[in-house]
Amino acid sequence: MIKTDFLVIGSGIAGLTYALKVAQRYPDKQVTVVTKAHTDETNTKYAQGGIAGVTDFEKDSFEKHINDTLIAGDGLCNPKIVEIVVKEGVDRIRELIEWGAQFDKDSDGDYALGKEGGHSEFRILHHKDVTGREMERALVETVTKQPNITIIKHCFVIDIITQHHFGFLVTKSTTDVTCYGVYALNLETRQTEKILAKITLLATGGNGQVYRTTTNPSIATGDGVAMVYRAKGRIENMEFIQFHPTALYEAGVGGQAFLITEAVRGDGGILRNKHGEAFMDKYDDRKDLAPRDIVARAIDSEMKINGTEHVWLDCRHMDKEKFIHHFPNIYEKCLSIGIDVAKNMIPVSPAAHYSCGGIKTNEWGRTSIQQLYAAGECASTGLHEANRLASNSLLEAMVFGHRAYLDAVEEFKKINSQPEIPDWDTKGTNHPREMILITQSLKELQLLMSDYVGIVRTDVRLQRAMKRLDLLWQETEDLYKTTTVSPQLGELRNMISVAYLIVKCAQFRKESRGLHFNTDYLFKNEISQNIIL
Ligand SMILES: Cc1cc2nc3c(=O)[nH]c(=O)nc-3n(C[C@H](O)[C@H](O)[C@H](O)COP(=O)(O)OP(=O)(O)OC[C@H]3O[C@@H](n4cnc5c(N)ncnc54)[C@H](O)[C@@H]3O)c2cc1C
Repeated sequence: MIKTDFLVIGSGIAGLTYALKVAQRYPDKQVTVVTKAHTDETNTKYAQGGIAGVTDFEKDSFEKHINDTLIAGDGLCNPKIVEIVVKEGVDRIRELIEWGAQFDKDSDGDYALGKEGGHSEFRILHHKDVTGREMERALVETVTKQPNITIIKHCFVIDIITQHHFGFLVTKSTTDVTCYGVYALNLETRQTEKILAKITLLATGGNGQVYRTTTNPSIATGDGVAMVYRAKGRIENMEFIQFHPTALYEAGVGGQAFLITEAVRGDGGILRNKHGEAFMDKYDDRKDLAPRDIVARAIDSEMKINGTEHVWLDCRHMDKEKFIHHFPNIYEKCLSIGIDVAKNMIPVSPAAHYSCGGIKTNEWGRTSIQQLYAAGECASTGLHEANRLASNSLLEAMVFGHRAYLDAVEEFKKINSQPEIPDWDTKGTNHPREMILITQSLKELQLLMSDYVGIVRTDVRLQRAMKRLDLLWQETEDLYKTTTVSPQLGELRNMISVAYLIVKCAQFRKESRGLHFNTDYLFKNEISQNIIL
């Protein structure tokens, strides 16, 4: 058993921002960060484009950034939250720079600001095309120097502990569900441990792995959302999955797809179909710089019309030296598979990229469960809602990592006692005899989500998805009851829950709005609401 003061699940930008601040505020208290992989194996590390923030007050303004965010969110954003993130974000970026993150500058020493789809001004700070890697590096280095933070790597959190675990009936109507820590499988000792804490923060990231093609690494299995749902907490707007329009298409290569950031289109890259035609003007006046949902649907439509598995991104007319300077990682990756961007077009197709919905939180990062906070991609704060404006998510993760810290350090003072928590119960379980049962179910899940619950949806497809999910859920629950828990089984179980939540929310939304596009309802309702489960 481990006892800590503050427990953080996740070592991406949200978790580490919060951990650092809490630890600095209370140097005599213990902060424990748990992560299921290497410390830096996070969605954060793979962010390319950058972090949005108003830094050039001559050309840009908070109002413009707020307005761009509200337009992307398609009527569902909480304006108060948008204002908080845009205005407070500037201070968070400043802190990140103080912690050592470096962003590109121009020859005058000013920040070289990028522009992405949906932004009316140049306001994206970036570090070449590996911004996330640079931010994660700076955060990990700073956190590692903080003596009262312990990082436990390779430790898979299975469930949050609530009253349910010591015999109380907890339902959706229970108003005082409380989190006392987590049960976690230490992958080095193979022991399931309880980690008890007065305050827990979930910063478990996204859920792209629910789909067959995703830009997300293998850790992105929606664990935090599934845990909160099982614990009877509130989950919101899961139907809004952002598909990145331009992941590198590699025939026969599955798993995490390499992202071609839309900053490439910001710098002049043009999408072309099978016939070499630039097609975006047929779909939107903003052409290649239209918001991601519009570009992703346009690509989906061109692929269907032409019967192809990808379209092309044409960068041949761009300045090669500038391209290599701004996008060295993309240039190298393309070259490694025989594509010289100065001579060849890049094959691209859409891939699941970002989850706008998640664990419902208030303006201080509090969830509906007491002593439990959430921040980063696993949270639904009110910022993105129907669609995320590019490069707003790293900003949101920092703002709510900070806000959760401000609230948690006050809440901490009020918590005096911890109930008796039972050990993890392994009675009646055995080691899995056939891993194929897990891997096959995962393939089925990813396929059905991609085919039935992708960029374009219909009622019939959603109904089919739900029926198939039901069967997968029953089979997996049977397996779970009789099998010693493993990360593979835990993740499959979580992904089935997340898929169920995506489909359920999609079925409730009887309109097409933002990222949710259902051809049975090609209209927007006059009054639209967030869907909370
Ligand atoms: C390819 C790519 C490019 C992107 N580009 C941009 C961009 O340019 N700008 C932008 O703003 N956003 C971008 N994003 C989105 C952004 O990177 C993420 O939304 C953000 O980094 C999420 O941070 P986080 O802290 O919430 O989670 P993450 O960084 O994903 O961290 C999640 C952490 O939780 C841990 N974890 C999860 N489940 C468990 C469990 N059961 N037990 C223990 N640990 C667990 C993981 O191990 C990991 O440490 C991009 C995303 C991707 C994938």
